[in-house]
Amino acid sequence: MFLRCGFADADADLRDAKYVVVGLPFDGTASFRSGSRDGPDAIRLASFNFESYDCNYDLDLATLAICDLGNMDLGADPAYAEETIKEGIALLPKAAVPIFLGGEHSITPPIVEGLAKNCADGELGVLVLDAHLDLREQFGNTRFSHACASKRILEKKGIGAFTSIGIRSGSKEEFTFAKENDISYHTSREVFEKGIDYVLDDALERLNCEQLYLSIDLDALDPAFAPAVGNPEPFGLTSWDVLRTIERAGPRAVGLDINELSPAYDHGQTALLAARLARVFIAARAKK
Ligand code: MN
Ligand code: MN
Repeated sequence: MFLRCGFADADADLRDAKYVVVGLPFDGTASFRSGSRDGPDAIRLASFNFESYDCNYDLDLATLAICDLGNMDLGADPAYAEETIKEGIALLPKAAVPIFLGGEHSITPPIVEGLAKNCADGELGVLVLDAHLDLREQFGNTRFSHACASKRILEKKGIGAFTSIGIRSGSKEEFTFAKENDISYHTSREVFEKGIDYVLDDALERLNCEQLYLSIDLDALDPAFAPAVGNPEPFGLTSWDVLRTIERAGPRAVGLDINELSPAYDHGQTALLAARLARVFIAARAKK
């Protein structure tokens, strides 16, 4: 009778949870459009649009043990946010698969660091969907910037493999850095020309680690599908490309984040897509 304010169907107790939803409302380094601090709650609200039954997976999400822990209090300082996220990760039950709702992309490096501690060295692979290389050493006078997310992820201990899909933007220095350091990425043009399954065949073979983490910067999608992001970039992935990525990578994944939703620029479609992708991830993981 009373709708809860958390993510839809997330009414399990933490001690029973197989999936935990965590909001990370931080946008302290936003460089174009700010407001992704409001992303987690916009995704939660949108999640109530959908049936609890997933007809593709023949699975009712209401039967799964999902717990929404709410939002972490991350303040305004990026170094403080990073430390707080790391502390929060350490408190999550190891048996549950975490789904993090951003917030800007700078939330991901501390998540990866936290999850890598649960894995043997070199056994965590990271798949990032992004329009941007995010390989800057620093941006806006901080190493914690969203524009440095992949650079910081690559520096974390225990990362065995990394690749990003959807790339169509970066500085000349970032592309040079990727080339010189043999950092794998797939452009959105490659996805458009060869198809997402062709690209995923290569990416998932490269990410042949024991564990896989999936980070979705929503600007990987074309602004036609996901307009409400911090740094929109035309010629992106379709919603079908990202769905397929979750269907194929999700069953192997130890966690997911969906970041960079800036709801003030939305007519609801970006938040709806983000919520639906989170739900597909949970279904894909549950059905594995
Ligand atoms: Mn990013
Ligand atoms: Mn991006």
